[in-house]
Parts: sequence; C-alpha cells; structure tokens
Amino acid sequence: MLEEIVRELMEAERIPAWGTTPIESLEPEGAHLREWLARGSHGGLSYLADTAEIRADPTLPGALRAGARGAILLALPYRRGPATADERGRIVAGCYRGRNYHSVFRGVLRRLAGRLRRAVPGIALRTFCDVLPIMEKPLAVRAGLGWQGRNTLVLHPTLGSTFVLGGLLVDRPLPAAPRIPNRCGDCRRCIDACPTGALSLPGILDAGRCLSRWTTAGLAVPPALPRGPYDHGCDVCQDVCPFSTGPAPEPFPGL
Ligand code: SF4
Ligand code: SF4
Repeated sequence: MLEEIVRELMEAERIPAWGTTPIESLEPEGAHLREWLARGSHGGLSYLADTAEIRADPTLPGALRAGARGAILLALPYRRGPATADERGRIVAGCYRGRNYHSVFRGVLRRLAGRLRRAVPGIALRTFCDVLPIMEKPLAVRAGLGWQGRNTLVLHPTLGSTFVLGGLLVDRPLPAAPRIPNRCGDCRRCIDACPTGALSLPGILDAGRCLSRWTTAGLAVPPALPRGPYDHGCDVCQDVCPFSTGPAPEPFPGL
C-alpha cells in the first residue's frame, strides 16, 4: 500500500516532519490568489500571475503531465540561532546561513524519488522545492504540517516556521492528514514588527513591500522602503513569532 511505503521511506530518511494529502482544486486559496493578483500585491512577480490557474488546481496537467493526484510534503528544519553580522552590521536570513538548502533538499528528494520508483513500478512523480508552479503552503497545511500564520508562513506546533518545505507530487491518491487548527489567536506581532508594513490582516502579504522579495532576487530594495537589519532575505516576521522562538529543533543534517 502506497501509504505504508511512503511511511517506511520517510523513516529511512529520518524526515522529522512530513505528511500526505490528496490533490484537489485548492480552494479557497485559489480564489485568494486570484484576488491578491488582481490587487497587484504580487509586486511584479509575473510568474505567479502566469501560473495562477495551475497553482490553484494542481489536478490540471502541468507540474505533472497527467495531473497530480497526491502529494507528500516534507519539512526540514534549519539551524536557528542569533545571526552574525558582517562588518557593515548586516545579517542574512536563517535559511540562507548554512549550505544551500535547495541542494540539500534536492539530494533528499532524489533519494526518495528513486526508492519510490523502485517500490512502486510505473508511478509518475515529480519533486519540488520552490521550483514547481504549485502552492506549497496550502498543500503543507492539508498534509497536517501546520497552519498558515499571519506572517503567511506555515507554523508547525514544535518546529515553528524555521524549516524549508518541499516534497513530491505523484499520480496516485494519498490520504489526507488531520489538519492542525490555526493557533495565532489574537497575536499580531508579525504584522506590527514588519519594518515595511508588508503584512496586513488576516495574513496578507504585499510582496512589493516585502524586503525578502527584493533581496533574495538579487534586486535593489526600492528606495521608498525602510531597510530592516537583513541584507539577504528577512526574518523579522518570524523572529517575533512565539512559535518560532522557543526551543530550537534539531536541524536537518546539512542545514
Ligand atoms: S519578510 Fe520582512 S519585509 Fe517581508 S513581510 Fe516579513 S518582516 Fe516584512
Ligand atoms: S507572530 Fe503571532 S500572528 Fe504572526 S504568525 Fe506568529 S503567532 Fe501568528
């Protein structure tokens, strides 16, 4: 049974947090994405507009030629801790401090894909970590990895949001995991702490005002925006989050 095979593979790779979900049209997130794009909140990230339909409905042929029917989501924690400032007093966001997380994740996903293909002959699959036109966060919520906080990040009850997300799409249905209810409550620390006012209730990001959007793309921050302490990426909205500042989880090897 596919579910059992997936469980054995995750245990063999010592994946600290993972879950599965059947693939379906992602609503209401698809409608939210379309509204967000219509407001121009994507800050010129045109690839998001170009791929909105396939992002909203991963059952359409796209990321997986025949359309995806199930997904396995993985959360790999990266090392938490105080950042070391460079000589200019600038720091980089946590996920960029260690080895390139894309290459670490790619290695894990390649091994999992190879094992899954051997265990389930004929299975069609595709790995992802930031690269495919899919909404990773809503899929992670459906896979029971956490809830999407007001800082738009997925918050796992013990890992917080200091992890990188990735996974596999497959052409077979997989069971849904129980969802974790949103625990943000009355908190709005992330919204109040954002140096540029990029976040608003109920948890909406104006990407054009997000420092991370500019610096991780290697672009100059628009002069109208105040600079936060970060030179590459920005963690301000998770540095203040009570779920991401508790005891640090064990980082995944290599991260
Ligand atoms: S990453 Fe930084 S700029 Fe972007 S929303 Fe969070 S705090 Fe604001
Ligand atoms: S800082 Fe508060 S509101 Fe923002 S994501 Fe964390 S718990 Fe939710």
